[in-house]
Amino acid sequence: MGKNNRIENLFSAGTLSLGGNHTPLGYLIDEQSDTLRMAGIVSDLLLSFETMFTKLSRDHQAQRIAAPAVIDTTVLERAEYFSSFPDTAMPLGDRWHLNPAMCYHVYQRYEHTTLSGNVCIYVAGQSFRNERSYAYLRRMGNFTMAEIVSLGDSRQVESFRTSLLLEVARLAEKLGLRGSLDRARDPFFVSAANRGKIVRQKLSPLKFELNIRVGKRERLAVASFNNHQEFFGSRFHIVDPDDLPVHSACVAFGIERWIYAYLYHHGLNRKNWPKIAI
Ligand code: AMP
Ligand code: ZN
Repeated sequence: MGKNNRIENLFSAGTLSLGGNHTPLGYLIDEQSDTLRMAGIVSDLLLSFETMFTKLSRDHQAQRIAAPAVIDTTVLERAEYFSSFPDTAMPLGDRWHLNPAMCYHVYQRYEHTTLSGNVCIYVAGQSFRNERSYAYLRRMGNFTMAEIVSLGDSRQVESFRTSLLLEVARLAEKLGLRGSLDRARDPFFVSAANRGKIVRQKLSPLKFELNIRVGKRERLAVASFNNHQEFFGSRFHIVDPDDLPVHSACVAFGIERWIYAYLYHHGLNRKNWPKIAI
């Protein structure tokens, strides 16, 4: 059996018991496929990827926000989250939802402010989503998301996104992860005027994804590159000195998916791994 088959089996629910604290390979994980307690090489990779994305954000002079696992429900309401993604976010009591993504903390942080220039923010943490089905590391109810967010002038925001598209593609290539950059199907966070048009096109130029090959036909979206135009600027009253809503873009990484893709391509034996920048 090749290494790729092994990793496939390992993380396909039902094909291998992952219970107990000590698996021979030392990556132990809980029995459920929607939440994971990681150890050994899996937790080492989690740290490596977090470090890598932190470094990438610093190349863009990002400031870091340390965010909690919850976000005020009213923030998601102002972001029209519930109409864009019905049933995805998980409520916690009356006041909060568990983070469905990290970048909402950035819009909340800058709400009702005037920006004199562009800002770049790095925010990483635990995200939670209801999904229709779950798969180890690939589709979970609770996962780790790192985001780099740019706010400001439309041209600079789009050039931030384009530049990150290339940098992240290069990074994946360096790590030996093969895949493609594709326009995504989700038409999201666009002004009402554009929404109908984009839904009809089924393809939004505002969202690209990096899809890594993890099987003969299977691809995994490990990162998304989203240009929200003035959507959040206007929803959260984040304006430029002329009082016009700023543009925003976020680049989001699903860290467990990077781990999965990395293990798929390089196997479980650390000795066979390409050097990963830590
Ligand atoms: P999105 O906000 O949907 O573009 O998600 C950002 C990134 O988070 C995606 O590109 C994935 O890498 C990752 N991601 C999204 N949903 C999940 C999930 N249920 N489990 C693990 N990773 C996810
Ligand atoms: Zn985001």
